[in-house]
Order: sequence, then C-alpha cells, then structure tokens
Amino acid sequence: MKDIKKYTNEDMKDIKKYTKKMFLDYANGFNYSEDAELGHLGKYKSDAEIKEDMKKWKLKDFREFYGFTHKDWNTGKEYKAIEGVNCMDCFSIMRNDEHSSINKNYCRECLQ
Ligand SMILES: [Zn+2]
Repeated sequence: MKDIKKYTNEDMKDIKKYTKKMFLDYANGFNYSEDAELGHLGKYKSDAEIKEDMKKWKLKDFREFYGFTHKDWNTGKEYKAIEGVNCMDCFSIMRNDEHSSINKNYCRECLQ
C-alpha cells in the first residue's frame, strides 16, 4: 500500500471501484456460518442472517467489513483507497488543490 504513489496511470488502468453489487457477489463466495457460531459477526447469528442484511448495506458498510474499496481486475489484487489520498471512485492520486478543498473523496474528473 505505501508505495501506491509510484503507480502510473498504466498500472492503475485495471483498478476499478468495487460496487455494492460486486460486494454482494463477493459475499456469496463465503459461508459465514462458522464465524457466526463463533460470535465473530456481532449481532448476526447465521450466514443467512448476515447475507439478508447485506442487501440493505451501503457501500461504506461493505468497505468497512471487507477492508477494501477497489480491485485490479488484471492481477486480482484488492486495494483500499485512502480518504484524501486516493479518489474514492477512480483511485487516482488526488492533487493538492483537492486535499484542501471541501471535497476530499473524489478527484475533479469524477466530480464532473
Ligand atoms: Zn476520480
């Protein structure tokens, strides 16, 4: 993660934002029964329960739960955009003028 600033646009061309739909598909690849039984899922007591609730989750909830925001579809590597550093949409490195503005989540291009 720390050397992300060395990445060029070419390196980042396959990095795409993980959408809610993608996270739901991702979640279907897991069975949370054991985690639920062991009490690792907080209020959720079964795999079915957490997956049912996930349908109501916001993108932010998925990002917190899974710990990543973007994925490189070429390498399969997952990335976590850092607020104020990466654009939360396209993952590009934010410019200084965007850091200091009221918007710190999206680059100028994504806001247009
Ligand atoms: Zn952007």
